[in-house]
Amino acid sequence: MLVWAVGSPGPIDGGPLERIDREVPVPGPMQVRVHVRACGVCRTDLHLAEGDLVPKHPLVVPGHEVVGMVDALGPGCTRFGLGERVGVPWLGHTCGVCRFCLDGRENLCIAPLFTGWDIDGGYAEYVVAEEDYVYSIPATFSDEEAAPLLCAGIIGYRALRRSQLPPGGRLGIYGFGGSAHLTAQIALAEGARVHVMTRSPQAQALAIQLGATSAGGAADPPPERLDSAILFAPVGDLVLPALEALDRGGTLAVAGIHLTDIPALNYQRHLFSERALVSVTANTRHDGTTFLEAAARVPIRATTTAYRLDQAELALTDLAHGRVNGAAVLLNDRGW
Ligand SMILES: [Zn+2]
Ligand SMILES: [Zn+2]
Repeated sequence: MLVWAVGSPGPIDGGPLERIDREVPVPGPMQVRVHVRACGVCRTDLHLAEGDLVPKHPLVVPGHEVVGMVDALGPGCTRFGLGERVGVPWLGHTCGVCRFCLDGRENLCIAPLFTGWDIDGGYAEYVVAEEDYVYSIPATFSDEEAAPLLCAGIIGYRALRRSQLPPGGRLGIYGFGGSAHLTAQIALAEGARVHVMTRSPQAQALAIQLGATSAGGAADPPPERLDSAILFAPVGDLVLPALEALDRGGTLAVAGIHLTDIPALNYQRHLFSERALVSVTANTRHDGTTFLEAAARVPIRATTTAYRLDQAELALTDLAHGRVNGAAVLLNDRGW
């Protein structure tokens, strides 16, 4: 099978991915093999290719937004039948015995394995995954639409829950890319009033089109106080205006894995009156299942740009240079 693997990590324009032939993998106990139909291109894949995220083993295959059909079952599998459509996400394994796993916070597991970092991912024709970490994909989504839900969607959903948004509450969203535009659709469907702060005029227009009450500049004060806010932009400077926009008792959740340094806070202006600043780390399987059900009920729609699987390097290069409209998705169905 064809796979794209990270050879020598470095700037994407230098071609750090290698296109190689590999044996089709054989699923082990409790593992399913998935014939890949679509794989979303996440910014984390770019961090991996460029070495900001150090590959866990040589020639690791990126890709953790995988949609495909189960085409082989390892010993002991019971959850899925052959031909069933499933999604393989970032969270590929947890230990099940640490105190975080035992008390329902497996996103904080001390020995997790991640798809497309520890485990070979979906920039390939086939991928093998533990069946307990694989999701059913609701029929309302095409393969291409479903792919970005598996990371951008799930992480945004966890950030929304971490922001403690009350029913009918006022939500501020700072930064409006792939994850944010999916999260906004869930919040709006739940009855929230949504205010979007972003420097991009196109993103502001998309926010209004999706039903946001207002859209302003990246650090602008929203037109009303916020119960909750989510910072999607990886910009620490924005923590200050986001905290300042919170009403008493409000919560700001930082959704990203990376954030530039946060400037000094002023206790009275930014935190007093029981405002809270929280981070978001990975997700539990419960987050994923709950999100996919909610996403199908709305149903939310992801903006995507399709590439063929053999164009993976082009897709990452376009992402690096800001040339992708919505989420890039690699498709393995064009007979290349
Ligand atoms: Zn991701
Ligand atoms: Zn654990």
